[in-house]
Amino acid sequence: MTRYIFVTGGVVSSLGKGIVSSSIGMLLQARGYKITIQKFDPYINIDPGTLNPYEHGECYVTVDGMETDLDLGHYERFTGIRTTRNNSVTTGRIYKTVIDRERRGDYLGKTIQVVPHITDEIKHRMRRDDDEFDFVITEIGGTIGDIESAPFLEAIRQLRWELGNKAVSVHLTYVPYLKAADELKTKPTQHSVKEMQGMGIQPDVLVLRTEKHLSDGVRQKVASFCNVDLECVVQSEDMPSIYDVPVSMQTQGIDAAILRKFGIPVGERPSMASWHKFLELQRHATREVHVGLVGKYDLQDAYKSIRESLNLAGIYNEVKVKIHFINSEEVTADNVAQKLEGMAGVLICPGFGTRGIEGKIIAAQYTRTHDIPTFGICLGMQMMVIEFARNVLGYADANSKEMDTETPHNVIDIMESQKNITNMGGTMRLGAYKCNLLADSRVAEIYGSCEISERHRHRYEFNNKYIDEYEAHGMKCTGRNPESDLVEIVEIPDKKWYIGTQFHPEYSSTVLNPHPLFMDFVKTIK
Ligand code: GLN
Repeated sequence: MTRYIFVTGGVVSSLGKGIVSSSIGMLLQARGYKITIQKFDPYINIDPGTLNPYEHGECYVTVDGMETDLDLGHYERFTGIRTTRNNSVTTGRIYKTVIDRERRGDYLGKTIQVVPHITDEIKHRMRRDDDEFDFVITEIGGTIGDIESAPFLEAIRQLRWELGNKAVSVHLTYVPYLKAADELKTKPTQHSVKEMQGMGIQPDVLVLRTEKHLSDGVRQKVASFCNVDLECVVQSEDMPSIYDVPVSMQTQGIDAAILRKFGIPVGERPSMASWHKFLELQRHATREVHVGLVGKYDLQDAYKSIRESLNLAGIYNEVKVKIHFINSEEVTADNVAQKLEGMAGVLICPGFGTRGIEGKIIAAQYTRTHDIPTFGICLGMQMMVIEFARNVLGYADANSKEMDTETPHNVIDIMESQKNITNMGGTMRLGAYKCNLLADSRVAEIYGSCEISERHRHRYEFNNKYIDEYEAHGMKCTGRNPESDLVEIVEIPDKKWYIGTQFHPEYSSTVLNPHPLFMDFVKTIK
């Protein structure tokens, strides 16, 4: 039997609903339950694939090729589950489904309305109707009170009515601290709960985000003003690391409280030994190793999975990876030495468009010629390839077709399948593809296998007609797709670590299973 947990947020955004949802998922998993976590976002875009990272942070890609919200990255990193296109739904997708159905005539002449047609479609996707999971956790994007999220809340209200004690509502709010009064204020929480109640939803569990510890008195007050059991008022204090959150939630018994709400026997508290071992390593990983992140989006969330993958690999290597963002638009041949000074390793970021591309090429040249370990991902790998053509193969005009230039040496070319595409959304080469590794290559050694599968998001590719030339000059194509023969990995074996991947390994690094490429990169530079 599947049970449903709905996670909403109130008062302000950015409270960390994704972390709380992931923590709940992970705690239930630790008790042996099969879970999944899905995100419902109230915007009209069909998916975040067409959004600028400045709008929405990183675009996370599922194994089955859906471009999704970065919270799915948290879900995977915390729980190790593999999400799919079912785990990410937007208002746009809901409306598109309903409108397409209307055009086909499936509604037999009825007037199509938000209630019941839109809400029915939302409910259908929330329920999933597969018996695969014990718990489906649904996180609702946005903040209670937003006009856009109203249909999602109406759907939750209906589902709670229909499902009875098979549905639990968890509401995350903020308790501000007023310095002048030296007081923690619960009024915004009371208002947020009232707003939920006004929509017919009584939250079962409240998670209070706070920068200061909340006394039992404060929790008691919230419990009685909001009709919530005291054991169901949990606080989420600022933690040194997001990975401490599940432990704090477990100590306060959020998982037990949720199980009791469902009427499920609670049983013993699981030990979560590997998680604690990881946290122990994290506490001791204090020696800093400096990594330059060469990219164009000066925003923490824009390279979220890369940052987390480096961080996790650092912890397992017993070091703290200190990431320095280096804006590729500002990198020139004159200042590159100064910009990369002190970096033990450099990661050249993925990206789209031509802005900042030359800076990435200059950085790649500098790190190659100074033998600084370098990791290029997607566009980063492509820039390593162009740099090599310009400065080693002697093609000064070498370029990528993405750079809007048609030169005789487009060493990065548009993929055949991408040539006549006019629609932007969801049309790239997306999701996991198989890749075969050359037996005696560095990457095969790192992966400990010659057959891997990794996630992609790109339109351009290494131009295979140059393979022999590259290989003769020392850059090897050590990973290839077995079906299409696309080059997925390049490496210069003579260097300490100079590897570029057309795919995105950062999407599959998890807390308990850090990605081998990131592990080896950090091991080399530490
Ligand atoms: N813009 C490049 C392409 O489409 C690289 C994409 C990326 O870095 N994700 O191929």
